[in-house]
Formats: sequence, structure tokens, C-alpha cells
Amino acid sequence: MSKPKNIRTCAYCGIKTEKSKLLRINLPLLCFDFYQNKNFRSFYVCQNIKCISRVLKKHSVNKYLNKEINDSKTVVFNAFLKELSSIITRLFENNNLDDNNLPHYSGLLLYKNNVSGYKGEAIPVSNLLYMGNKDTCFVSDSNVAKRLLNYKNIIIDIDGFNGELNGCKKS
Ligand SMILES: [Zn+2]
Repeated sequence: MSKPKNIRTCAYCGIKTEKSKLLRINLPLLCFDFYQNKNFRSFYVCQNIKCISRVLKKHSVNKYLNKEINDSKTVVFNAFLKELSSIITRLFENNNLDDNNLPHYSGLLLYKNNVSGYKGEAIPVSNLLYMGNKDTCFVSDSNVAKRLLNYKNIIIDIDGFNGELNGCKKS
């Protein structure tokens, strides 16, 4: 039987899983590839601090880097921050939702301040990821919503990257 096409391997721990559950990072500039579709050499890594913190030390990854990187965690964190804030800012700025008028249908809502009475999925977004003045953003594109939900823990955690990521204690 042939291997399913959407399975990828974490460059640090070697676990194989659906690529949508892994984070794809492009080389050599270490850009986070949110849509996993950019035409660059890249690697995949698990969404946990242990793999993120150590993956750039792996020879299979660092042989493609232009310089030696001592703080893998911070470098990868900054890559997430840069890409996610650009995507989330665009989503907030392009949605026409009235902040006082949440949709009744279920879907994905991104919000800056507390929301109540919304029945669908919702992700709180930190000020680092969206610095504009809208409070809510309804994500109508289901493909984008699915990806955001896959990365939910990173989006929630991005504010300083100090909490827990997928159950793994951070140092
Ligand atoms: Zn891993």
C-alpha cells in the first residue's frame, strides 16, 4: 500500500502525522508557511516546545541555514509571529462584521476582547498578532478557519510564548 500523500515527518522527533497538524517552515530564511504551499525547501515540525526548541540543531535542517542559530525557540517563535500577524491583520481588516453584531451561524470567530453569546468556535487573538482597533473578525473561508483552528494553541500562546503549547510545559 502506498503512503497517504498528506503525511509528513517532524524533522526533530521523526513522528509521522497529517501535515496539517505539523508546522511547515521554509528554508533557508525560516519563514512559517501557514498555507503550506510555498515553493521552497522546507521542513515540518510538531506543535510542541520540545521539537520547536531543538529542531534547528538537527543536521538535516541546519545544513540549509545560512548561519548558526543558538536560540531555536525564539527564532521559530518570531517566524510564527511575523506570518500569523500578517494573516490575522488582513483577516480583521477585510471582514465587514459589526463588532456589536455577532453572527448567529456557527463558524470561526477571532476576537480581541471577551465575547459572549457566540455559539461557534472562537480564538482569542493577542495584541501582538493584531494591533488594529476592531474587536472581532468572523472567518468565513472554511479552509482558512480550519488552518487557524489547527494552529489554535500557537495563536493563543503567541503572547510571549510563555504558557503551555499542546500540553508541553515550556522552560
Ligand atoms: Zn516532533
